[in-house]
Amino acid sequence: MYLKKMEIVGFKSFADRTKIEFDKGITAVVGPNGSGKSNIVESLRWVLGEQSAKSLRGGKMPDVIFAGTEKRRALNYAEVIAHFDNTDDYLMGHDEDDEVVITRRLYRNGDSEFLINGKKCRLRDIHDLFTDTGLGRDSLSIISQGRIESVFNSKPEERRAIFEEAAGVLKYKNRRIETESKLTSTQDNLDRLEDIIFELN
Ligand code: ATP
Repeated sequence: MYLKKMEIVGFKSFADRTKIEFDKGITAVVGPNGSGKSNIVESLRWVLGEQSAKSLRGGKMPDVIFAGTEKRRALNYAEVIAHFDNTDDYLMGHDEDDEVVITRRLYRNGDSEFLINGKKCRLRDIHDLFTDTGLGRDSLSIISQGRIESVFNSKPEERRAIFEEAAGVLKYKNRRIETESKLTSTQDNLDRLEDIIFELN
């Protein structure tokens, strides 16, 4: 699996629809300060399901939408599409698909949507698709400025999470936490039911 192509429109400095193709091997993006190099990487993190506007250098999520310049009006939505080559069947549940395409859209009124291969899906489906592939939203495939320093300065438990993601156990750990919370709420319901039965008797 590798990132083949990105399409960006309305995301940060990308007012026009911009297509970026990545060949196998190394791609370097060069350009003057402030020309939007980091915005490309941020658009990838965003389409992979980043939920923190702060880590995308914004105050709130709609800040990622092109805000306009002296010469151009602001846009009403941002869209990022990432095409992944899956000819090696690396992405689980997509053995039949040689390409997996992830889309994220956000409108200024707050509406948003995620799509996998053109079908609407939940944010969770995007997370599940990429967790443990090495390309998850929090994986170390994307190292932003200052991240290395923060890894060195992080607490042992936080560092452990990084190794867990790399080792591929994070997905199961997250599911365990979810299941435990469902069990607790089911137990609460059962307790409540017992109380009601007791009162009725
Ligand atoms: P450097 O080399 O200094 O790190 P860079 O090439 O990585 O710069 P970016 O940080 O990606 O540049 O881009 C910053 C530019 O994006 C700024 O000019 C900023 O005005 C613009 N920008 C950020 N958010 C928006 C937005 N919502 N609408 C319009 N432009 C935006």
